[in-house]
Amino acid sequence: MEDCLFCKILKKEIPSTKVYEDEKVYGFVDIYPMSKEHYLFIHKNHTSNVNEMSKATPNEIGEVYQAISKYTESNELSKNGFRVVTNVGPDAGQTVFHTHFHVLGGEKLGRFGS
Ligand code: AMP
Ligand code: ZN
Repeated sequence: MEDCLFCKILKKEIPSTKVYEDEKVYGFVDIYPMSKEHYLFIHKNHTSNVNEMSKATPNEIGEVYQAISKYTESNELSKNGFRVVTNVGPDAGQTVFHTHFHVLGGEKLGRFGS
């Protein structure tokens, strides 16, 4: 989608540091890491948030989670633990309107909430 930051990353118009890619899903390093390891996993098909994705293309949720599972099982994250977060809307502070799943880990994480 035009003017979508993550679609531009997928088209390589904006650089990113790839950690995972398959036919449908792309994983890359978050530029403002909130933990020692912080990645973003996105589907190559644009939707604006996980609620839209779950209505329009629910299979994509599974595809993204399968990619996260492959990636985290290929390194220490799965063994040591990690967190997946997806922000929806203003109260959650969503800033990029291409559905994305934060994968946080690489250290003991604090509790979350407000
Ligand atoms: P959210 O606030 O949940 O919408 O998450 C958007 C995330 O995208 C934030 O954690 C940003 O740090 C991250 N971000 C913004 N621009 C880029 C970029 N060019 N490359 C990688 N991550 C980015
Ligand atoms: Zn997009």
